[in-house]
Amino acid sequence: MSHLLQNYGQVAGEDVIRHLQKLALPLRGLKMVHVNSTRVGGGVAEILEKLVPLTQELGIDVRWEVMSGSADFYQCTKSMHNALQGNNVPIPRAQLDAYERTNATNAEQLRPLLEEADLVFIHDPQPAPLLALCPNRRGKWIWRCHIDISHPYRPVWKYLRDYVAGYDASVFSLPTFAQALPHCEFIIPPSIDPLSDKNIELPEEEISDVLSHFKIDPARPLVVQVSRFDRFKDPVGVINAYRLAKRYLPHLQLALAGGGASDDPEGEIVLNEVRMAAENDADIHILMLPPDAHRMINALQRAAAIVLQKSTREGFGLTVTEALWKGKPVIGGNTGGIRLQVIDHHTGFLVNTPEGAALRLRYLLRQPKKIQSMGYKAQAFVRENFLLTRQLREYLTLCVDLLHGVGD
Ligand code: UDP
Repeated sequence: MSHLLQNYGQVAGEDVIRHLQKLALPLRGLKMVHVNSTRVGGGVAEILEKLVPLTQELGIDVRWEVMSGSADFYQCTKSMHNALQGNNVPIPRAQLDAYERTNATNAEQLRPLLEEADLVFIHDPQPAPLLALCPNRRGKWIWRCHIDISHPYRPVWKYLRDYVAGYDASVFSLPTFAQALPHCEFIIPPSIDPLSDKNIELPEEEISDVLSHFKIDPARPLVVQVSRFDRFKDPVGVINAYRLAKRYLPHLQLALAGGGASDDPEGEIVLNEVRMAAENDADIHILMLPPDAHRMINALQRAAAIVLQKSTREGFGLTVTEALWKGKPVIGGNTGGIRLQVIDHHTGFLVNTPEGAALRLRYLLRQPKKIQSMGYKAQAFVRENFLLTRQLREYLTLCVDLLHGVGD
């Protein structure tokens, strides 16, 4: 077994790796290509960076190709992204021309590879027209949509739909994100990489260093929420919950860790609201972190007694997965993908109000044994459902199904 598979075997379980190897048997030697529009930055690139080498180790001849485009192409795909997520703004024809032109240019380069491939994964709307530009394709083509397109701006969806309807299958992250399409639609939820800086085990010393860097007392209970400063993440609700709980638990400390607010005008406003709500309470730590502070976030999540994710609206909520994986019960808003992860009374508690969150904080912080047993279940739940290896397993199952018609 390769070093890489062994490493994943150690955290995900040897049986999981054996299962992947078996599943990959009918796919060994086949040509698979992933196409997206960026090599670095964003969740899609992050996942592909890990998924591609693992797929390779399983004996599949996999390639990852990245489109290149001009500024007007990215302008168009940005508008398209916003429109598909519900922003009612039309895209000018000139931008759509750039989108079509860029895809045509990329197709010139990629056509031999794509037409030869047995399996092609096209990620998100940017490279969607490539299918129509490869008329002599022989493999199965899958459109992998990572965003929520359930309430799109209709004219933009109508335009894109013409490109994606011809695929053999599409994949969405959650059922609530999907649109009806005339082919097989699969739901494959996101996952985390247990070996990344964000999730790998850390030495105790590194965790204490992070706490002392932020002047957080390691001897007193800490609750943490990691999130962009966005109203839907309800950071002010978190402060209210902390305040209500602190009346009964005077030693309680809260860390709200986020970042990126300085170049986001709305983030700046929310951050100010949070600072006002904190009223200079020395036990509320508002931490502005750089975008690459993965180990720091990891340390804060590990240092927490309980993690909060009190969102009032949420897509999937990767921060919840990250916390559960670290054996922390999560008190989470009763919304979106949080509901898939926080199994009420088992891996944490679902709440609708700051009062509800405070009640659960008080309940748990008084019972360290309960925190421990819930945390144990939380980690097992993520191991079973939300690790990268599970996502790979589902991709492989989908490929076997498409090529060999298991589901027919
Ligand atoms: N994150 C980060 N720095 C921050 C805030 C968040 O690295 O300051 C990470 C967080 O650990 C998670 C991701 O960004 O991996 C946020 O994903 P999630 O699905 O929770 O929320 P989104 O921001 O996509 O709404």
